[in-house]
Amino acid sequence: MNHYAITMPQLSDTMTEGVVVTWEKQAGDRVERGDIVATVETDKAIMDVEVFKAGYLAGPLADVGATIAVGAALGYITDTAGDVAIAAGEVVAEQAQTEMIPHHAGTPVVMPQLSDTMTEGVVVTWEKQPGDAIKRGDIVATVETDKAIMDVEVFQDGFLSGPIADIGSVVEVGHPMGFIVDDAAKANDTGVTISADHKVKDLHKVAPHAADKPAHIPMPKAAPVQISAEGTLPPVARPSGRQASPYARKVAAQLGVNLTGLAGTGPSGVIVAADVARARPSMQEVAHSLPQVDVPGQGRKMTSMEKAVSHAMAASLTLPTFNVTMNIDIAALTAAAKANKVSVTVAIAKACSVAMAKFPRMNWAYQPVDKLVERANHDFGVAVMSNDGGLVVPILHGIEKKPLDALQSDWTGLVERARARKLAPAEYSNPTFTISNMGMLGVSHFTAIPTPGISAILAIAANGPQGTPFTITGDHRVLNGADVALYLATLKQTIEAPEAWLGAAGAVAAEAVAGKAATISAPISPIPEGNWDFPVVVVGGGPGGEDCARDLADHGVKVMMVNNEPFPGGECLWRGCIPSKAWRAAADVIRNRAHDAEMGVDGTNTPRLNWEQVEKHRRWVQSSRGEMALKADKGMKIDVREGYGEFVDAHTLKITPVEGQPYQVTFGAAVIATGAPAFVPPIPGARENLANGGVATSDTIWNLATPPKKLGIVGGGVIGVEMAQIFRDFGTEVLMLERHERILAEVEEEIAKSLIASLEKEITVVTSAAIKEVSGTPGAMKLRYANKDGVESVFDCDVVLMATGKRPDTSRLNLDKVGVELDGAAIKVDARCQTSAPHIYAVGDVIGGYMLAHTAATQGRVAANNLLGHTSEYDQDKDCGVTFSRPQAGFVGLSVAQAKAKGIDAVEAKMPMSIDAKAMITGETEGMIKLVADKATGRIIGVHYLADHTDTLIGIGVMMVAGEMTLTQVAKAIFPHPTQTELFGELARRLLNRLRRTAKK
Ligand SMILES: Cc1cc2nc3c(=O)[nH]c(=O)nc-3n(C[C@H](O)[C@H](O)[C@H](O)COP(=O)(O)OP(=O)(O)OC[C@H]3O[C@@H](n4cnc5c(N)ncnc54)[C@H](O)[C@@H]3O)c2cc1C
Repeated sequence: MNHYAITMPQLSDTMTEGVVVTWEKQAGDRVERGDIVATVETDKAIMDVEVFKAGYLAGPLADVGATIAVGAALGYITDTAGDVAIAAGEVVAEQAQTEMIPHHAGTPVVMPQLSDTMTEGVVVTWEKQPGDAIKRGDIVATVETDKAIMDVEVFQDGFLSGPIADIGSVVEVGHPMGFIVDDAAKANDTGVTISADHKVKDLHKVAPHAADKPAHIPMPKAAPVQISAEGTLPPVARPSGRQASPYARKVAAQLGVNLTGLAGTGPSGVIVAADVARARPSMQEVAHSLPQVDVPGQGRKMTSMEKAVSHAMAASLTLPTFNVTMNIDIAALTAAAKANKVSVTVAIAKACSVAMAKFPRMNWAYQPVDKLVERANHDFGVAVMSNDGGLVVPILHGIEKKPLDALQSDWTGLVERARARKLAPAEYSNPTFTISNMGMLGVSHFTAIPTPGISAILAIAANGPQGTPFTITGDHRVLNGADVALYLATLKQTIEAPEAWLGAAGAVAAEAVAGKAATISAPISPIPEGNWDFPVVVVGGGPGGEDCARDLADHGVKVMMVNNEPFPGGECLWRGCIPSKAWRAAADVIRNRAHDAEMGVDGTNTPRLNWEQVEKHRRWVQSSRGEMALKADKGMKIDVREGYGEFVDAHTLKITPVEGQPYQVTFGAAVIATGAPAFVPPIPGARENLANGGVATSDTIWNLATPPKKLGIVGGGVIGVEMAQIFRDFGTEVLMLERHERILAEVEEEIAKSLIASLEKEITVVTSAAIKEVSGTPGAMKLRYANKDGVESVFDCDVVLMATGKRPDTSRLNLDKVGVELDGAAIKVDARCQTSAPHIYAVGDVIGGYMLAHTAATQGRVAANNLLGHTSEYDQDKDCGVTFSRPQAGFVGLSVAQAKAKGIDAVEAKMPMSIDAKAMITGETEGMIKLVADKATGRIIGVHYLADHTDTLIGIGVMMVAGEMTLTQVAKAIFPHPTQTELFGELARRLLNRLRRTAKK
């Protein structure tokens, strides 16, 4: 049984006691980390007492109104449920960690932890003053960390309120720097001076221009010790003849500390957690614990950055290092870099990564105690001189998987920000290997110092008569001399023969350097060699299969495409994109007439649907495109077969044609592109009524003889919404039922919200609905459902459309015979669309993800490219989609929420269509366009639409995101007037201005 004392915290230098004002929890109550258990009045204010220990509150509790000395117990936390008080004389192992924050001060704006090593930060500016209104996403302050000056962004609307930490205050990570209140009247305009040991020294009114007068605040004596007893390791044994608290033993197990011989500072010499933490000190403590030699003169305090470098360098003395040097001729790589239009630094970093693929140990790190972190990600720090003369080490991330041009584009932005010391934390934290190139400064030889967290650092000196000296300093706990020597030998080969990994440009450069004519080697195809009927078979003739087969045939590969329909085109042409948009086109004509009178054209407001003609036109588009596709496929020498394909073994496919006998063909490689049919959940009556047509899916809705008068739609996804509006425009009464809380779950939140508001004006939408039963006969169907309150209703309709999603069905493909694994219902693939069987690829709806025609086609081309021997990957972050609603919704790339989930610091700007001149002219003012950019690089990573003509406007977003354009490029582009495209330039300029305004001085 363990007891922990909750003591009266010392809030300021002058505070010696406090008065208990309230208990917020009662003895016996469960207490979690971060709970407020009491409020106390100090000489400054009423403060909440927050505890950082879970357990149960136990007495004796100090009486309300009692004056308690700083450090004395207010009450206890015990880890046993049911105890309301601990007995007199019971051992109290430790103090429970507490924190005091001003009572009712509002939501704290805390010092963010911007890197793993950051324990405190210095307040540099307040961008807002107490009383100022604040919007979610505003930058309220900037802080200096051990690495750079960073923005502090808040995620709540309200008003800034004091006490705010003075400019220059050093505030611990996680501690309040200020507060946000919900009412301007509640905003308090006090400032607070914080003393060296993070305690409040002085409260005062905030001067009107406090930001211009930084107060001098002494630096802290020591950073707080960071300890954690999380994890599942059992506590270490008690040292013989000594006492150690259970928490200390648990922390010791986590940190690998031996308790024998450790001094205890608890009562009667008991070893407590802080003693254990001191045995595994931070970089700062290592630095400070070294013998210090007195130096004459009047020293100034180091800045946070200078301190961090000094501590890291001193902590590096804990690494047992050794050096190995090899001379490398970099002429060929330099020429190749030039030919590829990338910097030599980037080319060297890539070469280091290529060589490291063979020596992964170079990328590992020693982790205390006696552990190795085996990392596969090549995130290399590359030292850069900052504008103020210091060295900054930005990180090139993911070098192992990115091509040179992508690395160069990352590097260009990084260098710019590194020089200005404006790197984001992720851009300088946790490199896996480091490169320092001082060759340009003419040094003939040098070594660099690895710091804890990496095991090797590369120092590149100036080119000499024997080549360029590459010196690696390695951590002997991870690497031995031979490891590094072999790595350097491979690196030498990699750098001196870039054609082996850089392809054509490397070859050109290498040959040019050698003074010979260039020979470009062809890429090596992974299609297994053999006497196959077809080197590649493609199963499925939708957008995925067809684009793949065409690309392969175009490159001279003999390819067969089997499709169990008479014409190619798949769901897209026969049951999806094309027919639905043909219907939409007719519906658009009807809907657009509603604006004619506003435009000054009368007499067109009673359009009449000619269903026969609609269907004739739709079928004409479909059959014409089907015939065109088949002709093109055959013309390209694709061997198109009609029939159902299934695997017999790893290299044999059985084909069952519509007529005639099944037969088999052998193949080297295969691509599965069989799509995903509509999925109908097991709702009573739903599947049963499919055959008679009372229930339809997106596969069968095309059989309707006439538009229904009343249509029940189950499912509020994109397909359901498109169908709902089409039929509404055709005059149908529509009820949409959705089992989730909102419809259009896959659409960006704000866009979806606006679109839903429009939709609900036209159709009835019931969310959180439970569908009970579908019954009746075609033309007289009954859809029974309960709303979110459980109230049941029946909707009488002509037909029920189950728009309940699509799900791949691979049950008849015999995937087990070829070793292709599934991920749920979908086929599992990597970014190259390769399945778990290396010679089999899968693309399109059958692999899940975005189930869209252009996604399938792109993946088809990715698979083809890989089969041709070129490395190619599908990048979902650059994909796009349009919902053909009115107005149309669309997305390209990432939303802010998606970007943030990936660790990208993203910002967005939006503009309503109502301010656009062209939209006003045509009366198409509903909706908005949003631009999302990566704050660190200014690159546009997402564009989101709710607008008429999104299907055209989206092309601009696609080019911006695919081309990785920056806000500056788009801001400078000239868009024609009056067109809706002007909004893109406006948005880019607005976002740029906003970023400039919030940028640090
Ligand atoms: C109503 C509706 C509207 C849509 N609108 C759009 C839109 O506007 N934009 C958009 O991008 N996407 C849209 N889609 C989605 C789009 O249709 C699909 O994402 C796309 O067709 C998927 O292509 P795919 O090649 O993966 O599969 P599919 O197009 O499904 O093609 C698979 C083909 O393989 C055949 N096949 C299956 N199994 C076998 C086998 N064992 N042997 C031989 N052949 C086989 C099938 O018969 C089919 O011809 C819509 C879908 C629906 C239902």
